[in-house]
Amino acid sequence: MRLTAFTDVSLRLVMRLAVAKEGELLTTRAAAGMLVVPYSHMAKAVARLSELGLVEARRGRGGGLTLTEAGRRSSVGAIVRELEGAGDLAGCEDDPPCPLRSACRLRGALSRAREAFYASLDEVTVESLVSPPTQQTLMVLRSDGSPAVEPS
Ligand code: SF4
Repeated sequence: MRLTAFTDVSLRLVMRLAVAKEGELLTTRAAAGMLVVPYSHMAKAVARLSELGLVEARRGRGGGLTLTEAGRRSSVGAIVRELEGAGDLAGCEDDPPCPLRSACRLRGALSRAREAFYASLDEVTVESLVSPPTQQTLMVLRSDGSPAVEPS
C-alpha cells in the first residue's frame, strides 16, 4: 500500500509545524520550499488540514501556519484515515467496473489489510515523529529544502 502524495505532503507539513519555535509563523510558500513540494500541493494540504482543525492558517501581514493543539495530539493513524478516505484499494468501481465486485473476497481482504495498516499508525503520535534525530533535520531545513549547516 502506498500513501497518496497529498497525504505525504500533509504529514511533512504537520511534522515541520510540530517543531516550530515559539512565535514562528511559517507561510505556505516557505513550507513548500522547505519541504520541496509544489506550492499548489502545499496550499491544498493547508486547506484540508485547516478544515480538519489540525492546522491554523492566519492570513495577512504577520500571518502564517501553526499546528493546533488537536494537531499536536493527533495520532498519525487518525490523520492518514482522514486524508486517504475509504475508497477501494483496487479499481472495483472504476469505469468499467470489475465484473467480480458483487462476490469478491479479495475486496474484503484488502479492506481488512488497510484497517490493520491504519491501526498500526494509530499508535504513532505526531510528537513521536518529531523526536530526535528527525527534530534536528526538520529544524535546520532551508527555504529550498537543503539542510542548513548548524552553527558550531
Ligand atoms: S478483483 Fe475484487 S478487489 Fe479486485 S477490482 Fe475486482 S472486485 Fe475489486
